[in-house]
Amino acid sequence: MTWNPTTGCNKVSAGCKYCYAEVMARRLQAMGIEKYVKGFKLAIHEEALLIPYTWKSPKIVFVNSMSDLFHKDIPFRFIEKVFAVMNDNPQHVFQILTKRSDILVQYSNKLKWSHNIWMGVSVENEKVVHRIDDLKRCGAKVKFLSCEPLLGPLLNLNLEGIDWVIVGGESGRKPRPMDPDWVLDILTQCQNANVKFFFKQWGGTNKKKNGRLLLNRTWDEMPETVDFETS
Ligand code: SF4
Repeated sequence: MTWNPTTGCNKVSAGCKYCYAEVMARRLQAMGIEKYVKGFKLAIHEEALLIPYTWKSPKIVFVNSMSDLFHKDIPFRFIEKVFAVMNDNPQHVFQILTKRSDILVQYSNKLKWSHNIWMGVSVENEKVVHRIDDLKRCGAKVKFLSCEPLLGPLLNLNLEGIDWVIVGGESGRKPRPMDPDWVLDILTQCQNANVKFFFKQWGGTNKKKNGRLLLNRTWDEMPETVDFETS
């Protein structure tokens, strides 16, 4: 499930071109949904901080599907509050994904990284592989890469210290193509480095039809789960 203590963002790299959150935010704004009154402009939702306390059963939560938690206009004090909520709720796994790895590094030492916080960076092409080095410098116990939409080859990744890699192709009306060789190469690199691999989809204009089989099977590996209550 998703949890959005902030909404809105702006584009920072090639992976943002057809941002799903932007399309959704504008749609929700047009529907008159109060949370999206500002459309895709950055907005902070203090009231959303209470939501994880209301979930009865343990959940895997994607944090800020409609924003980027390390956006430069989100005050550090608010990020600290989001982390306090995650620290307070060890029964849930919180997955955070950012393209602002520089700000992640800047704040990392001041944040409490409980075991239930998984931190990831988007790596859509070689231009942004530096985000991986930033991720390695943060205090998260579980670190992952989201290579989605994969827009080019990612050769010779240094996967030391990385737990999980997710790969997926772009979908929508004008998806940029993903070469199967790029995917296979990342799979091989993950296998050589003993990193879990998750293949989400081929994407394309008909993502259902294109499916998510790679080498005639699905790839749904995840990092080992830990006992969040006691760690
Ligand atoms: S960083 Fe994420 S939410 Fe922000 S514009 Fe890019 S794709 Fe959209």
